[in-house]
Amino acid sequence: MSKVQSLDKEKYEERLYDLTYEATNRCIQCGYCLPVCPTYDSMESESHSPRGRINLVKMAAEGKINILDDLAEPIELCLGCRACEVACPVNVPYGEIYEGALEVINKQKEEKKATKEIKSNKILDMTLNQVFPYKKRLRTIGNFTWFYQNSGLNKILRKSGVMEKVSKPMAEFEKVLPQIEAPSRRYKFNHIYEPLGEKKMSVAFFPGCIMDSVMSKINRLTIELLQKCGCEVWIPKNSTCCGALHAHQGKISKAKELAEENIQAFEDMEVQYIINNAGGCGAMLYEYDKLLKNDPLWNERAKKFVKKSKDITEVLNMLGSLPFEKEWEGLITYQDSCHLRNVQGVIEAPRKLLHSIPGATYIEMRDSHLCCASGGIYNLIHYDESMKILDKKMKYAVNTNAKTIVTTNPGCLLQMKLGIERNNDASKNVKAYHLIEILAEVCGIK
Ligand code: SF4
Ligand code: SF4
Repeated sequence: MSKVQSLDKEKYEERLYDLTYEATNRCIQCGYCLPVCPTYDSMESESHSPRGRINLVKMAAEGKINILDDLAEPIELCLGCRACEVACPVNVPYGEIYEGALEVINKQKEEKKATKEIKSNKILDMTLNQVFPYKKRLRTIGNFTWFYQNSGLNKILRKSGVMEKVSKPMAEFEKVLPQIEAPSRRYKFNHIYEPLGEKKMSVAFFPGCIMDSVMSKINRLTIELLQKCGCEVWIPKNSTCCGALHAHQGKISKAKELAEENIQAFEDMEVQYIINNAGGCGAMLYEYDKLLKNDPLWNERAKKFVKKSKDITEVLNMLGSLPFEKEWEGLITYQDSCHLRNVQGVIEAPRKLLHSIPGATYIEMRDSHLCCASGGIYNLIHYDESMKILDKKMKYAVNTNAKTIVTTNPGCLLQMKLGIERNNDASKNVKAYHLIEILAEVCGIK
């Protein structure tokens, strides 16, 4: 362990507060969280377990270890899947501890970057600050990617091996990126889509950033499925990225800014629910009140937003049986989105929908509740660690004999697609889908 500086009283108390010291004291060291932690399983060390990480945060708060030298690596290698929080018998708020630690680590790194003691990741910082919060920029990227896929440029670049040289993880994910829909088929912002037939409900749809940019087909299918189930669907004018990627990089003030923009964008809509179709984004929206807890005015507005925020699977179940027109053949298995399951507590709703699909047989995958190691951009930043966890998951997926793997989050979907490519037994005949793609297909929506 490195040498630790002592601080004056005020700074010491600030550090205790920032590192959620009170919360770390609630851990009774029982270890019930260890079996659900994918990084403890793959890295086999206490410091990469929830209990170990909580202990390290506690020691950092007490000034016994150094934040950047001793705490940063174990915290940054955490997937943020929050399975440990659900497993904990005494309700230790791991998410709060983790995000507090990330923020402190990020602040110290920013200070070191300013004095050039450490290098900044300019591409990551630029993407988070200058791309994700801007809808038009994201749609331009989506349009360019569509052109790239349809002009043959992708084949030329793959053949040249340039991408592999720039970034192996990026090159791997580029190969499994779904075919992007033509820009002409995009839905409109600031628009209300009418229900088909009798109106059962008015809802707003949260389009997100990645979903709106490179997976806009899934968003369009979501809107059309809701219309077909009797919903009037409001699309906001000014929504933005949910801020999850920023929060998981410790950029909490930017995450708060984005949360406020989103709350404002949906505030005046006369709808029963604000629906999203991405588990990771949904979890962020679901916790906007916690994120804005220190600002009483925004906290009240956030609480109203959170009350209306729902995953698409919950709302589809409320609308009764779906208007099926076709069958889906064979076995289907499901990989939970950690943030849908562990943060939003949505476990049965997607399974119930899968069970209801005509012609299909649902089979549960071993450890479907454990993270696939997508983790936002964890799989790009910590590629080797992520692939170790993914390859184990794919063995369990293959053991089900299902030819269809379903998930409910864009990151998990890409991760499943990559996992299939990496597994010889799966690569020829298994496919991964977002749940909405399958439901739309069997309901006759193209
Ligand atoms: S959030 Fe997930 S990866 Fe991180 S400590 Fe908890 S179980 Fe492990
Ligand atoms: S976080 Fe909870 S489950 Fe894990 S060791 Fe602490 S008290 Fe036990």
